[in-house]
Amino acid sequence: MKAIRGATTVAADTPQEVRGAVRELLNEIKEKNGLAEGDIVCILFSNTADIRSLYPAKAAREAGFSGAALYSSLEPEIEGALPLCIRVLLFVETCRDVRHVYLRGAADLRRDLKKFSIALDGPSGSGKSTVAKQLAKEFGILYLDTGAMYRACALAAKDAGVTAFTEESVAPVLKEMELRVKYEDGAQRTFLGDRDVSEEIRKPEVSMAASAISALHCVREKMVEMQRKIAAEQSCVLDGRDIGTAVLPDAPFKFFVTASAEVRARRRCDELKAKGFAQEYAQVLKEIEERDKNDSTRAISPLRRAEDAVLVDTSDMRVEEVVRYIKKKIQEKV
Ligand code: C5P
Repeated sequence: MKAIRGATTVAADTPQEVRGAVRELLNEIKEKNGLAEGDIVCILFSNTADIRSLYPAKAAREAGFSGAALYSSLEPEIEGALPLCIRVLLFVETCRDVRHVYLRGAADLRRDLKKFSIALDGPSGSGKSTVAKQLAKEFGILYLDTGAMYRACALAAKDAGVTAFTEESVAPVLKEMELRVKYEDGAQRTFLGDRDVSEEIRKPEVSMAASAISALHCVREKMVEMQRKIAAEQSCVLDGRDIGTAVLPDAPFKFFVTASAEVRARRRCDELKAKGFAQEYAQVLKEIEERDKNDSTRAISPLRRAEDAVLVDTSDMRVEEVVRYIKKKIQEKV
């Protein structure tokens, strides 16, 4: 059993306003937490004393939340409190981490929960995706692996028989491509049409092709637009090469995660081995150096540290240490 908190405000004390605000708040909580109707055990509301036109619990029942036990109470009048405010506490049957939801005027009550993005850039093998996943879990927000999107573009182009990536040869592939990212139990799955390509895009040959295709303007334009759209809808951690410099230059939290090429090659070897794509260390190192060169010398959005990004060299750090360090930096800024 988990508890979810939330709050919202109404513009005026009318039954219609209360109905609208309660429905919006509960639906948002349900959606953000992936809840089914039967998962909600009980919903407790309280509201400020300036709301007297309708019990929020009644509004919840009217909105279809009648399977849960519902209860409303009135808050004492406290000087300086946010007016016309409805607060809620839900008890739910779930094993997932929960996300609290504060809407409308109540969003300011929990500034720490306001929508925000964390940009994690860095070269391949720096450990940023492991760190990004962990951060997303700890903050209860989405993790967007932007590299997977470039990898999927490369796979789509290869499948279409394109061998030399140019603006002319790749643009028609992008037009036809139906790239989607979905989340299953918090983990990103990458789809081309109905085909789940999450594993296939990890193959070494796709890595090299992704590095080549990501230098094209038509590819970056399309991917950046998709990434901005996802980040505009919810709080998320994005990892990539250009998040802090080009995708979300206004992100409040930016980190440039790096490590020596040797350490990165060793990590990549272990990762590939675990996935059944074992490769020679020397070969992996060569490819990492080649990708570093491609990524940092390309004309559009090259891999580089944003001026306001915190540099994190993970060569001698364990994952937990990196996560702890980044969390500390974020908390210092909130
Ligand atoms: O991070 P990952 O190794 O999965 O990325 C694959 C390739 O996609 C990178 O080598 C890079 O060329 C490209 N990429 C990019 N911009 C991003 C993410 C990845 O150019 N934001």
